[in-house]
Amino acid sequence: MTDFSHKLLDGRKIAAGMHDAIANDAQALKEVGWPVRLVSIAVGESEPAALYIRNQARVAEKLGIAFEDRFYPETTGADELTGIIQGLNLDPRVSGVIIQRPLPAHIQVRTMQRAVHPFKDVEGMHPSSIGDIVYNDLVMGPCTAVAAVEILKTTALQLEGLEVVVIGHSDIVGKPIAFLLMGAGATVSVCHALTRNLAVHSRAADAVFVAVGKPGLLTGNMLKPGAAVIDIGINQVTAPDGSVKVAGDADFDSCAEVAGWITPVPGGVGPVTVATLMRNAVKAASLQRSAYERHFGATEMVR
Ligand code: NAD
Repeated sequence: MTDFSHKLLDGRKIAAGMHDAIANDAQALKEVGWPVRLVSIAVGESEPAALYIRNQARVAEKLGIAFEDRFYPETTGADELTGIIQGLNLDPRVSGVIIQRPLPAHIQVRTMQRAVHPFKDVEGMHPSSIGDIVYNDLVMGPCTAVAAVEILKTTALQLEGLEVVVIGHSDIVGKPIAFLLMGAGATVSVCHALTRNLAVHSRAADAVFVAVGKPGLLTGNMLKPGAAVIDIGINQVTAPDGSVKVAGDADFDSCAEVAGWITPVPGGVGPVTVATLMRNAVKAASLQRSAYERHFGATEMVR
């Protein structure tokens, strides 16, 4: 088997490099009476969501960030959940609110994301956070998109003028990635389900981001030699022996053969996404502290 380790963009290592600064900032906020605290909201049973929550809780604990995981029954109504979020918005002890996906079909995820106060929007999903990206003003950006672009920045590629293709144009991943890259000076093409010839675009790119949810969609013959591949896809695939594993959207072996850099799945974008969420939590707590100070002339919250 070919060894591609020299081409790997190791998300665990990149995340570890972010952790120290986040932990220091969280400690500094605690010392001035403003401990960082996240509240995660999950509705109904979901194995993938349970896995994300365990991961987030583990990293939060490591960084000195309090993490409360709340689970509500499948029957919880949209109005009830909105009320819960509004309560958290008003609680000065809560720095950020995470709405775990999927939500049951009777609750619109966008409505809930909109209910979170922009200062507590640690996932960067509120329309105001998404809008900030268009203005190239990165307060709390959507974690996965920010993480994917941060990973590209660890390569030797210069973003100014770089030809980049983003495959997938979802509101929370593909589109924000495109805006972040444009903000950094890249020339960006966005491909999606209706793109006529994906390979024509991807072969011209110095970097390819893929966020579709189709394992093996991007293959080595669709790449320019030396290009960077940032694989955001998370897919459960069943191997011929019946075992289930997680795979990205890129066919790893054929892409790694041609690419100059490639993210593994798992261990690529995922860990950097969680680190970005924690960095947003610290930013959120700082924003709230400043706002509190302006309104009440007090630096410590009144409990
Ligand atoms: P989505 O379903 O909202 O959007 C999929 C996008 O892919 C759409 O823009 C669609 O037009 C495009 N598409 C579909 N078929 C295509 C094709 N044949 N060719 C080109 N484009 C095609 O998905 P999403 O929420 O953006 O998630 C995409 C993937 O990223 C999923 O696998 C998801 O699990 C994963 N994801 C990963 C993270 C992370 O932290 N790593 C976070 C969010 C989502």
